[in-house]
Amino acid sequence: MTTAVVVGSGPNGLAAAVHLARHGVDVQVLEAADTIGGGTRSAELTVPGLLHDECSAFHPMGAGSPYLQTLDLERFGLTWKWPEIDCAHPLDTGDAGLLHRSVEDTAAGLGDDGTRWQRMFGGLADGFDDLAADLMRPIANIPLHPIKLASFGPRALLPATVTARWWRTEKARALFGGVAAHAYYRLDRPATSAVGLMIVAAGHRYGWPVAEGGSQSITAALAAMLTDWGGKITTGTRVRSPRDIPPADVVLLDLAPSAAADILGDRLPPRVAKAYRRYRHGPAAFKVDFAVDGGVPWTDPACGRAGTVHLGGTFAEIADAERDVATGRMPRRPFVLVGQQYVADPGRSNGSLHPLYAYAHVPHGYTGDATEAVITQIERFAPGFRDRVVATVSSGPVQLAESNANYVGGDIIGGANTETQVVLRPRIALDPYSTGIPGTYLCSASAPPGAGAHGMCGYNAAQSALRHLRRAGGDVL
Ligand SMILES: Cc1cc2nc3c(=O)[nH]c(=O)nc-3n(C[C@H](O)[C@H](O)[C@H](O)COP(=O)(O)OP(=O)(O)OC[C@H]3O[C@@H](n4cnc5c(N)ncnc54)[C@H](O)[C@@H]3O)c2cc1C
Repeated sequence: MTTAVVVGSGPNGLAAAVHLARHGVDVQVLEAADTIGGGTRSAELTVPGLLHDECSAFHPMGAGSPYLQTLDLERFGLTWKWPEIDCAHPLDTGDAGLLHRSVEDTAAGLGDDGTRWQRMFGGLADGFDDLAADLMRPIANIPLHPIKLASFGPRALLPATVTARWWRTEKARALFGGVAAHAYYRLDRPATSAVGLMIVAAGHRYGWPVAEGGSQSITAALAAMLTDWGGKITTGTRVRSPRDIPPADVVLLDLAPSAAADILGDRLPPRVAKAYRRYRHGPAAFKVDFAVDGGVPWTDPACGRAGTVHLGGTFAEIADAERDVATGRMPRRPFVLVGQQYVADPGRSNGSLHPLYAYAHVPHGYTGDATEAVITQIERFAPGFRDRVVATVSSGPVQLAESNANYVGGDIIGGANTETQVVLRPRIALDPYSTGIPGTYLCSASAPPGAGAHGMCGYNAAQSALRHLRRAGGDVL
């Protein structure tokens, strides 16, 4: 029987493993940690009975993933739950921009900019599936929907600071800016609009759902499906060298490029080794999980009905903070993302005690303590928050990297979204998943289409591996 080893059990590792197993390959997954899931794990981090997402929380790209949608993960226990409002962006004026799943509802709350929001996102949301089909696979492929891609391309390539000028009100500009900040890069750089436009469009198409029972349910569903197809998963096994990888026809690495270079050593062609070593990681996250009694006392009560709340004030303030972290400076008021997953999935709370999730964008490798900066940003839009906090657990870049070696320097998106790396990652190649060693592939978020619990990097890499196996006369379906 044809065999495969997948190193790492993040959503991309598991998606790759499932895809290979469905094609009749005997798959073994090796995971360094004691629990599977990488960036899609959940735990009682603060007090017993409160379920926190350790990493990924909101899944517009998961629900909209061209591959995950084919899997019927619901059969294996995955249930998406939607908050009433996908995302809120409060301002110092006291009210907030609100991103609803419906373009019309969002536009209705944006006053003079409502029509402009509709013109920007109506068509994008309607055409999201076609765009995603092209944008979530390697750029070298012939486009499936060239006209849609050609109309999106010029807009996507603009810096977010230029796109933001489309709106006249601060509410609309900031609402877009908070989403564009998911690019984790300077918003005045080319192509930073791409991430903001795609995530807003995905939200208008699929909403920003959470997984019932925590993001670990995505992992559990993928693992159950893999086991159903005969795959095996071993935890507590860190791969450090090729000797740690059992013989197999194909090997897929759900790892950072530098880790792949360390493990593969001089087996890697020198040009690939050089590219993997030069691969750039981006700014980091500083995560703070809270147990909060009675929820967050937002000045604008609508924020309490939102799954995600973006804290960073005006578009200009967010752009300044993002420029600072990208250039290695810790801003006084960093951009903070707050997650209220319990709004959509009340089973994560315990009575009036709720698990609150937050992380700040901080410089790569930041070693300071940003807990107070996170609390201060929440207090700014929710005075009295501090008094409701019952427990706090902080994880800076160092702890994040310790919990998952893929978070190099605390970079949670698998590599900086520089102008080049946003599409051409981890190196410029016809097959970006290929390591240059026949049969060995990189399948992590450091490969296209990049970060997110969508499994597309794993699926695309598995497709490359299947092509190799077929060429080699392997026994695959
Ligand atoms: C705080 C935070 C918030 C996030 N929020 C969101 C969100 O809301 N929505 C979203 O879609 N995404 C979010 N993400 C990003 C998302 O989690 C990642 O993009 C995604 O998990 C990447 O998947 P992956 O499979 O490529 O790698 P990972 O999920 O990082 O998995 C890699 C796995 O490989 C294992 N591993 C590493 N080295 C070795 C080794 N040598 N041997 C064996 N195993 C090894 C690791 O332990 C890990 O389990 C967030 C991430 C973080 C940290």
